Amino acid sequence: MMLTELDPNARVGIFGGTFNPIHAGHVNAITSVHGRMNLDLISVVPAAQNPRKPETEGPTPEQKIEMLKRGLEEYSDFVVIDDRELKRGGPSFTIDTVREYAQTIPPESLYLIIGLDQFEEFDKWRDYKELLTIANLIVVTRPNHNLPFSEEDMPEGLRSLVEAFDRQFVQLSTGRSIEFLRLQDIDVSSTDVRKRMRTGRNVDALVSIAVEEYIREAGIYAHIGPMIGDYEEFTRFCAQVLFEKKAINVRAFDLQGTEAATDFSLIASGTSTRHAVSLAEAVQKAVKEEYNVFPLSYEGASEGRWVLLDYGALIVHVFYDFVRQEYRLEDLWKHGKDLQVKDQTPAPTKA
Ligand code: ATP
Repeated sequence: MMLTELDPNARVGIFGGTFNPIHAGHVNAITSVHGRMNLDLISVVPAAQNPRKPETEGPTPEQKIEMLKRGLEEYSDFVVIDDRELKRGGPSFTIDTVREYAQTIPPESLYLIIGLDQFEEFDKWRDYKELLTIANLIVVTRPNHNLPFSEEDMPEGLRSLVEAFDRQFVQLSTGRSIEFLRLQDIDVSSTDVRKRMRTGRNVDALVSIAVEEYIREAGIYAHIGPMIGDYEEFTRFCAQVLFEKKAINVRAFDLQGTEAATDFSLIASGTSTRHAVSLAEAVQKAVKEEYNVFPLSYEGASEGRWVLLDYGALIVHVFYDFVRQEYRLEDLWKHGKDLQVKDQTPAPTKA
C-alpha cells in the first residue's frame, strides 16, 4: 500500500524509531497495534538520528531501509516504510514528521505509536503538546517499564492535559487521547541485538532470519574494526584521553586468548556520576575526531554510574568510583595481560 492511495477516512499509525536494527519487539508492537486498534495503515519512520540518544555506529540510511523492508516484508498489506526523516537528515524530531502527516490526515484518525520507555520521557519531546493536538498516542508496554496507575504516574508535563484517566484510556483536553496497549512482551532492544551479534551469540527469535542474513552479508556491525586498526594502540589512545580528563585508576587489559567476549578492556572512574559521564563523552569525542568512528553502543550515560562504550574489540567502562567497587570487573580480567597504561602527559617544566 502507498500513503498516497489512502482513503480520506483511513486511520493511520506512525511508528518511529532508530531501528538499529529492527527486532521482534518492534514487529510485535506493529502487528499488535494493527490487530487491536483497527488501524488501516502503519507507517514506519526510521529516524536519521534520535536527538535524545547518543550517536552510535550502524547502518547507512540505505541499509536501514533494506533491513526494514526485509523485516516487515510479510506485513506489506498494512505497513509502509517512510524514509522522509532519513532524507531530511540530522536529528529527527517527530513533530516535524507528524505535522506533515497532519496536513492530509485529520487528528481523530492519526495515531503516534510509542513504547512505554519513550512515553516516560514524552514531556521532553520537542513540542509534545502540539503533538498531542494533531495526533493521538498509542503506548505499548515494554518489559521493565510500568503502566501508569493514575494521573500522578503520568509524565509531569502531561498531567495538566488530562481530562479523564481510566487506566487504559486517557482523554486529553486537546480532544485527543492516549491509549495503553498491553503486549505479550518481548524482552529485546536493538542494543541487546547489537551486543549479541558482536559477541557471536545467537539472535534467533529476536531478529528475523532475513534481517540477520542481511546484517551479516553487509557487515553492518562489523565495519568498525578496520577503521580502528591496531586495537592496542587504540586502547592506549582512549586511556590517555581519560588521564587528561583526570580519571582515577585507569587500567587497560589485553584479553586475547582468555574467555572474555572482547579483546581489550579499559576501565576508569570519575569522582562523581557527572565526572563519569564527562569522561565517557571525552572519549567518544576524541575517538570521533581521531578515528572518525562512533561506538557501537553507548550505555548508561543518563545515570553516570557505569557508562559503557562499545568499540567492538575494545569495551570502555567508566564508573562512578563508588559503584566500581561493587562490580570489581578487574577480577574477571586477571587472566589477561595488564597493559600498565600510564599518563603520557609531559610533567610541567619548572621555570
Ligand atoms: P536501542 O536499544 O538502540 O535504544 P530500541 O530497541 O529501544 O533501541 P528503537 O528503534 O529506539 O528501539 O524503538 C522504536 C520504538 O519501538 C520505540 O517507541 C520503542 O519504545 C519501541 N520498542 C522498542 N523495543 C520494544 C519492545 N521490545 N517492545 C515494545 N516496544 C518496543
